[in-house]
Amino acid sequence: MALTVGVDVGGTKIAAGVVTDDGTVLEKVRHPSPADDADALRRGIAAAVNELRNRHEVDAVGVSAAGFVSADRRSILFAPNLVWGHDPLADLLEKEVGSTVVVENDANAAAWAEHRFGAGQGVPDQLMVTLGTGVGGGLILDGKIYRGAHGVAAEIGHIGILRDGIRCQCGRTGCLEQYASGRALQRDAQIAADAGRAPHLLAAADGDPQRVTGALVTQLAHEGKEDALALIGQLAEHLATGISSLVSVLDPALVVLGGGLSEAGDVLLEPTAIALNRDLTGGDDRPGPELRIAALGNDAGLIGAADLAREGLESS
Ligand SMILES: [Zn+2]
Repeated sequence: MALTVGVDVGGTKIAAGVVTDDGTVLEKVRHPSPADDADALRRGIAAAVNELRNRHEVDAVGVSAAGFVSADRRSILFAPNLVWGHDPLADLLEKEVGSTVVVENDANAAAWAEHRFGAGQGVPDQLMVTLGTGVGGGLILDGKIYRGAHGVAAEIGHIGILRDGIRCQCGRTGCLEQYASGRALQRDAQIAADAGRAPHLLAAADGDPQRVTGALVTQLAHEGKEDALALIGQLAEHLATGISSLVSVLDPALVVLGGGLSEAGDVLLEPTAIALNRDLTGGDDRPGPELRIAALGNDAGLIGAADLAREGLESS
């Protein structure tokens, strides 16, 4: 049985896991992520991989990272939260870990994992939307990751849903990420609490609007509190606006919602599905996609990266 390692490189930690060909994680290690030094970051990834290689025979390594990955999947072109330098990451890492390395965008890796082993198993055309601190996306078309001409397709968080809307880190205004991310939920919840429109949230945060978090909104929504449900309902409306545009173009069978915010489950899924059905062009006469919550949680990125590294071995 060929084993590969998947590495999920985040802003605070590097998680690496040994993954089997059916997507099972045999062992996982965590190392701190030195976010401000490209060489230290790469050495941290190599250390995590080599720790696992001491105990497992590994054939290839897949690295999942937030950012624009080059079309040849060897280097990172642009990343908002981590310093990678301009050196070809895969070439340098291969020397340090002694096996083939592929680099993949984190949302693509997660979408691939859900397609192969998770909520979208066996569905050839599906869209994944990851709702974390920001909003990311991955697109599986005809059973393959759609990467676009330059390798940077499916940046779903930066489709515009509102003209002259809130300014985004990407430099534009009105991006989906500014309305449907974990950060957006927290911002809107704090504003609502501060303005006296979220009494349950404010009480649960000991009267301090700044202590209202996205996780608290989700928790109170599960308890049926109207103010929390209204905030998630508002986010779901924005999310459906973004998804409906993509559905009009792509006609996927399935949309998978992943990322930390998707742990909200049905309180997010139901209003999003209702708003999406209402927004779809053609209304009731048009079959729409099914909407599901992702199944693999935080491990999706490393499982997907490991599987894509294995796929690279098989096709070479
Ligand atoms: Zn943007």
